[in-house]
Amino acid sequence: MLKRTSYLLLLIVFFITSACQQSDSKSSSGDSSGLDSAAAIPAGNEEASSRAASKDRKPADAATILARKEVPILCYHQIRDWKSSDSQTARDYITPVNTFKAHMKMLADSGYHSVLPDQVYNYLVYGDPLPPKPVMLTFDDTDLDQFTVAAPEMKKYGFKAVYFIMTVSIGRRGKVKYMNSDEIKQLSDAGNVIGSHTYDHKNVKKYQAEDWPIQIDKPTKRLKEITGKEIEYFAYPFGLWNKEAIPELKKRGFKAAFILSTKRDENDPLFTIRRIIASGFWSAKSLHNSMINSF
Ligand SMILES: [Zn+2]
Repeated sequence: MLKRTSYLLLLIVFFITSACQQSDSKSSSGDSSGLDSAAAIPAGNEEASSRAASKDRKPADAATILARKEVPILCYHQIRDWKSSDSQTARDYITPVNTFKAHMKMLADSGYHSVLPDQVYNYLVYGDPLPPKPVMLTFDDTDLDQFTVAAPEMKKYGFKAVYFIMTVSIGRRGKVKYMNSDEIKQLSDAGNVIGSHTYDHKNVKKYQAEDWPIQIDKPTKRLKEITGKEIEYFAYPFGLWNKEAIPELKKRGFKAAFILSTKRDENDPLFTIRRIIASGFWSAKSLHNSMINSF
Protein backbone atom coordinates (compact mmCIF):
# COMPACT_ATOMS: atom_id res chain seq x y z
CA MET A 1 0.00 0.00 0.00
CA LEU A 2 2.73 2.37 1.00
CA LYS A 3 4.63 1.53 -2.15
CA ARG A 4 1.59 2.18 -4.29
CA THR A 5 0.89 5.49 -2.59
CA SER A 6 4.44 6.71 -3.02
CA TYR A 7 4.40 5.66 -6.65
CA LEU A 8 1.23 7.67 -7.18
CA LEU A 9 2.76 10.63 -5.38
CA LEU A 10 5.79 10.40 -7.61
CA LEU A 11 3.60 10.41 -10.67
CA ILE A 12 1.69 13.42 -9.43
CA VAL A 13 4.91 15.30 -8.69
CA PHE A 14 6.17 14.37 -12.12
CA PHE A 15 3.15 15.80 -13.90
CA ILE A 16 3.01 18.92 -11.80
CA THR A 17 6.66 19.75 -12.34
CA SER A 18 6.67 19.05 -16.04
CA ALA A 19 3.60 21.22 -16.41
CA CYS A 20 5.40 23.98 -14.49
CA GLN A 21 8.34 23.77 -16.82
CA GLN A 22 6.10 23.97 -19.86
CA SER A 23 4.35 27.03 -18.53
CA ASP A 24 7.73 28.54 -17.58
CA SER A 25 9.13 28.09 -21.03
CA LYS A 26 6.26 30.04 -22.51
CA SER A 27 6.52 33.04 -20.24
CA SER A 28 9.85 34.31 -19.00
CA SER A 29 8.50 35.18 -15.56
CA GLY A 30 10.00 32.92 -12.93
CA ASP A 31 6.77 32.05 -11.18
CA SER A 32 5.18 28.80 -12.12
CA SER A 33 1.51 28.11 -11.70
CA GLY A 34 0.81 24.92 -13.57
CA LEU A 35 -1.05 23.18 -10.78
CA ASP A 36 -4.53 23.36 -12.29
CA SER A 37 -3.55 22.24 -15.75
CA ALA A 38 -1.44 19.48 -14.23
CA ALA A 39 -4.46 18.03 -12.47
CA ALA A 40 -6.26 17.74 -15.80
CA ILE A 41 -3.56 15.58 -17.34
CA PRO A 42 -4.47 11.90 -17.09
CA ALA A 43 -1.87 9.76 -15.42
CA GLY A 44 -0.60 8.02 -18.54
CA ASN A 45 2.03 6.03 -16.71
CA GLU A 46 3.70 4.39 -19.68
CA GLU A 47 5.77 7.43 -20.42
CA ALA A 48 6.56 7.94 -16.77
CA SER A 49 7.76 4.40 -16.25
CA SER A 50 9.85 4.48 -19.40
CA ARG A 51 11.45 7.66 -18.12
CA ALA A 52 12.20 5.94 -14.86
CA ALA A 53 14.34 3.32 -16.59
CA SER A 54 17.20 5.63 -17.40
CA LYS A 55 19.43 3.27 -19.36
CA ASP A 56 17.55 2.79 -22.61
CA ARG A 57 16.14 6.26 -22.92
CA LYS A 58 16.73 8.26 -26.02
CA PRO A 59 18.71 11.45 -25.35
CA ALA A 60 17.32 14.70 -26.71
CA ASP A 61 19.05 16.39 -29.61
CA ALA A 62 20.77 19.77 -29.30
CA ALA A 63 17.79 21.75 -30.58
CA THR A 64 15.48 20.18 -27.99
CA ILE A 65 17.96 20.87 -25.21
CA LEU A 66 18.35 24.49 -26.32
CA ALA A 67 14.58 24.91 -26.42
CA ARG A 68 14.10 23.85 -22.80
CA LYS A 69 13.90 26.63 -20.26
CA GLU A 70 17.35 27.16 -18.72
CA VAL A 71 17.83 26.36 -15.05
CA PRO A 72 19.20 29.39 -13.18
CA ILE A 73 22.76 28.59 -12.12
CA LEU A 74 24.69 30.90 -9.81
CA CYS A 75 28.45 31.07 -9.57
CA TYR A 76 30.17 32.23 -6.38
CA HIS A 77 33.84 32.57 -5.53
CA GLN A 78 34.96 33.99 -2.20
CA ILE A 79 32.45 34.47 0.60
CA ARG A 80 33.99 37.02 2.96
CA ASP A 81 33.76 40.67 3.92
CA TRP A 82 35.52 43.16 1.67
CA LYS A 83 38.92 44.53 2.61
CA SER A 84 40.04 48.02 1.59
CA SER A 85 42.64 46.39 -0.64
CA ASP A 86 39.98 44.55 -2.70
CA SER A 87 39.63 46.19 -6.11
CA GLN A 88 36.24 47.08 -7.54
CA THR A 89 36.54 44.28 -10.10
CA ALA A 90 37.54 41.77 -7.44
CA ARG A 91 34.43 42.64 -5.45
CA ASP A 92 32.23 41.06 -8.10
CA TYR A 93 33.87 37.79 -7.03
CA ILE A 94 33.89 38.45 -3.30
CA THR A 95 30.47 38.15 -1.69
CA PRO A 96 30.30 39.71 1.79
CA VAL A 97 29.01 37.27 4.39
CA ASN A 98 25.77 39.12 5.10
CA THR A 99 25.12 39.54 1.39
CA PHE A 100 25.53 35.81 0.89
CA LYS A 101 23.19 35.13 3.81
CA ALA A 102 20.62 37.48 2.29
CA HIS A 103 20.95 35.72 -1.08
CA MET A 104 20.29 32.30 0.47
CA LYS A 105 17.41 33.59 2.56
CA MET A 106 15.81 35.19 -0.50
CA LEU A 107 16.09 31.92 -2.43
CA ALA A 108 14.52 29.94 0.40
CA ASP A 109 11.80 32.54 1.07
CA SER A 110 10.98 32.68 -2.65
CA GLY A 111 10.50 28.92 -2.78
CA TYR A 112 13.64 27.95 -4.69
CA HIS A 113 14.99 24.43 -4.45
CA SER A 114 18.64 23.70 -5.03
CA VAL A 115 19.36 21.12 -7.70
CA LEU A 116 22.52 19.24 -8.59
CA PRO A 117 24.18 18.61 -11.97
CA ASP A 118 22.71 15.12 -12.46
CA GLN A 119 19.22 16.60 -12.09
CA VAL A 120 19.98 19.37 -14.56
CA TYR A 121 21.53 16.83 -16.94
CA ASN A 122 18.54 14.48 -16.77
CA TYR A 123 16.19 17.40 -17.23
CA LEU A 124 18.03 18.67 -20.29
CA VAL A 125 18.72 15.28 -21.85
CA TYR A 126 15.60 13.29 -20.95
CA GLY A 127 13.11 15.96 -19.94
CA ASP A 128 13.00 14.66 -16.37
CA PRO A 129 11.10 16.85 -13.94
CA LEU A 130 12.85 19.25 -11.60
CA PRO A 131 11.51 20.56 -8.31
CA PRO A 132 9.56 23.82 -8.60
CA LYS A 133 11.80 26.90 -8.88
CA PRO A 134 15.06 25.07 -9.32
CA VAL A 135 18.38 26.83 -8.82
CA MET A 136 21.89 25.40 -8.96
CA LEU A 137 24.48 26.89 -6.64
CA THR A 138 28.09 26.58 -7.74
CA PHE A 139 31.37 27.62 -6.14
CA ASP A 140 34.62 27.95 -8.06
CA ASP A 141 38.30 28.05 -7.14
CA THR A 142 38.44 26.03 -3.86
CA ASP A 143 38.34 28.97 -1.41
CA LEU A 144 38.15 27.83 2.21
CA ASP A 145 35.30 30.18 3.10
CA GLN A 146 33.05 28.16 0.80
CA PHE A 147 33.44 25.36 3.34
CA THR A 148 33.48 27.41 6.54
CA VAL A 149 30.88 30.07 5.68
CA ALA A 150 28.81 29.15 2.64
CA ALA A 151 28.17 25.45 3.26
CA PRO A 152 26.82 25.89 6.84
CA GLU A 153 24.61 28.77 5.69
CA MET A 154 23.17 26.70 2.84
CA LYS A 155 22.63 23.77 5.20
CA LYS A 156 20.10 25.86 7.15
CA TYR A 157 17.87 25.77 4.08
CA GLY A 158 18.68 22.25 2.93
CA PHE A 159 20.55 23.61 -0.11
CA LYS A 160 23.21 21.49 -1.77
CA ALA A 161 25.86 22.88 -4.08
CA VAL A 162 28.56 22.12 -6.61
CA TYR A 163 32.20 22.89 -5.85
CA PHE A 164 34.48 23.25 -8.86
CA ILE A 165 37.95 22.55 -7.54
CA MET A 166 41.25 23.82 -8.90
CA THR A 167 43.51 21.08 -7.62
CA VAL A 168 46.79 23.04 -7.38
CA SER A 169 45.31 25.03 -4.49
CA ILE A 170 44.07 22.10 -2.38
CA GLY A 171 45.31 22.52 1.19
CA ARG A 172 47.10 25.84 0.62
CA ARG A 173 46.87 28.09 3.65
CA GLY A 174 48.80 31.19 2.62
CA LYS A 175 47.43 34.69 2.20
CA VAL A 176 44.40 33.13 0.53
CA LYS A 177 43.18 30.00 2.25
CA TYR A 178 41.88 27.05 0.30
CA MET A 179 40.07 23.86 1.23
CA ASN A 180 42.09 20.77 1.97
CA SER A 181 41.21 17.29 0.79
CA ASP A 182 39.45 16.42 4.04
CA GLU A 183 37.12 19.41 3.69
CA ILE A 184 36.42 18.57 0.06
CA LYS A 185 35.61 15.00 1.12
CA GLN A 186 33.24 16.27 3.82
CA LEU A 187 31.35 18.36 1.27
CA SER A 188 31.12 15.38 -1.05
CA ASP A 189 29.99 13.04 1.73
CA ALA A 190 27.29 15.53 2.70
CA GLY A 191 25.71 15.14 -0.73
CA ASN A 192 27.29 18.06 -2.54
CA VAL A 193 28.94 17.53 -5.91
CA ILE A 194 32.63 17.99 -6.57
CA GLY A 195 33.55 19.04 -10.09
CA SER A 196 36.77 19.85 -11.89
CA HIS A 197 38.07 23.36 -12.50
CA THR A 198 41.46 22.27 -13.90
CA TYR A 199 44.84 22.06 -12.18
CA ASP A 200 45.80 25.73 -12.03
CA HIS A 201 43.08 27.63 -13.84
CA LYS A 202 44.77 27.70 -17.22
CA ASN A 203 42.54 29.01 -20.00
CA VAL A 204 41.20 26.02 -21.94
CA LYS A 205 41.45 27.94 -25.22
CA LYS A 206 45.22 27.83 -24.91
CA TYR A 207 45.61 24.09 -24.36
CA GLN A 208 48.20 22.18 -26.34
CA ALA A 209 48.25 18.38 -26.34
CA GLU A 210 50.45 18.30 -23.23
CA ASP A 211 48.01 20.41 -21.20
CA TRP A 212 45.21 17.84 -21.20
CA PRO A 213 46.88 15.34 -18.85
CA ILE A 214 48.06 18.13 -16.53
CA GLN A 215 44.95 20.29 -16.48
CA ILE A 216 42.31 17.61 -16.79
CA ASP A 217 43.37 13.97 -16.36
CA LYS A 218 45.44 14.31 -13.20
CA PRO A 219 42.99 16.65 -11.43
CA THR A 220 40.11 14.25 -12.24
CA LYS A 221 42.09 11.36 -10.77
CA ARG A 222 42.98 13.38 -7.67
CA LEU A 223 39.40 14.46 -7.07
CA LYS A 224 38.18 10.92 -7.58
CA GLU A 225 40.68 9.69 -5.00
CA ILE A 226 39.53 12.34 -2.52
CA THR A 227 35.80 11.82 -2.96
CA GLY A 228 35.61 8.17 -3.99
CA LYS A 229 33.19 9.29 -6.72
CA GLU A 230 33.33 9.81 -10.46
CA ILE A 231 34.09 13.39 -11.49
CA GLU A 232 31.61 14.11 -14.25
CA TYR A 233 31.21 17.88 -14.41
CA PHE A 234 33.61 20.60 -15.44
CA ALA A 235 33.68 24.38 -15.18
CA TYR A 236 35.83 26.26 -17.68
CA PRO A 237 38.27 28.68 -16.00
CA PHE A 238 37.11 32.26 -16.67
CA GLY A 239 34.11 30.66 -18.39
CA LEU A 240 36.22 30.51 -21.56
CA TRP A 241 35.93 27.59 -23.96
CA ASN A 242 36.33 26.66 -27.59
CA LYS A 243 34.90 23.99 -29.87
CA GLU A 244 38.12 21.98 -29.79
CA ALA A 245 37.83 21.46 -26.05
CA ILE A 246 34.43 19.80 -26.14
CA PRO A 247 35.39 16.45 -27.75
CA GLU A 248 38.39 16.31 -25.41
CA LEU A 249 36.13 16.67 -22.37
CA LYS A 250 33.65 14.13 -23.74
CA LYS A 251 36.43 11.65 -24.41
CA ARG A 252 37.42 11.96 -20.77
CA GLY A 253 33.99 11.01 -19.52
CA PHE A 254 32.56 14.40 -18.55
CA LYS A 255 28.78 14.59 -18.90
CA ALA A 256 28.51 18.36 -19.04
CA ALA A 257 30.56 21.54 -18.71
CA PHE A 258 29.69 25.00 -17.46
CA ILE A 259 30.50 28.41 -18.92
CA LEU A 260 29.49 31.86 -17.68
CA SER A 261 26.77 34.06 -19.12
CA THR A 262 27.86 33.94 -22.76
CA LYS A 263 26.01 32.21 -25.58
CA ARG A 264 25.69 28.41 -25.60
CA ASP A 265 27.09 26.30 -28.41
CA GLU A 266 24.35 25.31 -30.82
CA ASN A 267 25.69 21.79 -31.31
CA ASP A 268 26.88 21.09 -27.77
CA PRO A 269 24.63 22.88 -25.31
CA LEU A 270 25.48 20.37 -22.58
CA PHE A 271 29.11 21.44 -22.72
CA THR A 272 28.23 25.11 -22.60
CA ILE A 273 25.67 25.32 -19.80
CA ARG A 274 25.30 28.94 -18.68
CA ARG A 275 25.87 30.33 -15.22
CA ILE A 276 25.83 33.88 -13.89
CA ILE A 277 28.29 35.31 -11.40
CA ALA A 278 26.32 36.27 -8.31
CA SER A 279 28.11 39.57 -7.85
CA GLY A 280 29.26 40.70 -4.41
CA PHE A 281 27.55 44.03 -5.17
CA TRP A 282 24.12 42.47 -5.61
CA SER A 283 21.43 42.71 -2.99
CA ALA A 284 19.07 39.76 -2.72
CA LYS A 285 16.61 41.66 -4.90
CA SER A 286 19.19 42.34 -7.62
CA LEU A 287 20.14 38.70 -7.57
CA HIS A 288 16.53 37.65 -7.99
CA ASN A 289 16.04 40.08 -10.89
CA SER A 290 19.19 38.82 -12.58
CA MET A 291 18.09 35.23 -12.22
CA ILE A 292 14.78 36.00 -13.88
CA ASN A 293 16.34 38.11 -16.64
CA SER A 294 19.32 35.91 -17.46
CA PHE A 295 17.73 32.48 -17.74
ZN1 LIG B 1 37.72 29.90 -11.54
